[in-house]
Order: sequence, then structure tokens, then C-alpha cells
Amino acid sequence: MQDQHLPTLIAPFKLARQGQTLHGVVSVDGLERLATVLSDGKGLIDVSLQFGKDQQGSNFVRGHLSAKVNMACQRCMKPMSVDVETDVSLGIVASEERAMQLPEGLEALIVEEEPMALARIVEDELILALPIVTLHENRDCEPVLEKLQAEAERIEQTEQKTNPFAALSDLKL
Ligand SMILES: [Zn+2]
Repeated sequence: MQDQHLPTLIAPFKLARQGQTLHGVVSVDGLERLATVLSDGKGLIDVSLQFGKDQQGSNFVRGHLSAKVNMACQRCMKPMSVDVETDVSLGIVASEERAMQLPEGLEALIVEEEPMALARIVEDELILALPIVTLHENRDCEPVLEKLQAEAERIEQTEQKTNPFAALSDLKL
């Protein structure tokens, strides 16, 4: 694994023309849209992207992203480590109209202006690859909601058993 930090800004058309590859890491910290779905900014994304031109002369970027990030467990709301991996395969185009002309099934990376943020590719692809449901294995998980519900039931039962005027006498103190 290389831990070379990648540039923040890239010029996809130029990289494709030159047939360049990008290998390195991007820090999760600082990816704002990704941050909204993660529990913290810890974690590095391993990025491996190959830029080039195919036989039809279309620009493309293909590769792989992998990361270990922290997301909230939906049962206990505590952070848990999640492995995310995804393949990238995008046609690089200059406009929406050009995007329509891409072969079916090939997603577009619309680059209206160079340079653009590398984060746009990394974030979009990674957000799509995140699990929809994140839950701890049972032994790691203390379900907050169930605990609260159990507690509420317990209080309710206790209140029913006690004299309703007891609560009032508490208030006088
Ligand atoms: Zn949990």
C-alpha cells in the first residue's frame, strides 16, 4: 500500500491524453459530502485510477477505491468500522450532451472546467458504495432504543403501582 497523498485538483482530459495513472491515498477528512454520512473524519481512501483513451477515442477513467471508514451503527448509534470497496469506470465528457452519447451502462464524469477536484470522483463513487444498513455484530451492540423502551416500560409500571399522590408530595419538596 502506498501512502502518497494525491493532488486535490486534477485535469482529467489531460491525464487521459497522457494515459496517466493515479495511485495513492485521499484523506476522508475534508471530504464534506462524505462527512455527512460518516461518524468521523478518520480514515484513508486508497485510490487507484487509470486515465486513458479507448479505441473509439473516448476518454475514460477506470480503477478501484477502497477505504475503512467509521459509520454509526443504526441500532446503538455508536461508530463502527466499515470496509468499502468499489470499482470505478467513467467516461470523461465535457458536457451533459456528450454524456448522452456514451455507450449504455457507462457513467459519465462531466468535466466542464479543468482542473476539477479529485474528491468529486472519489466522493461520488464511495458514497454509492457505502452500505445502506450498518449494524454491529450483536455482541458489540447495545441497542439504545430498546434500552430506552425497556426503561420507559419499567417507569410506567412503577408509576402505576405507586400512589399517584406520591408524585405530588415529591413536588412540594
Ligand atoms: Zn451497534
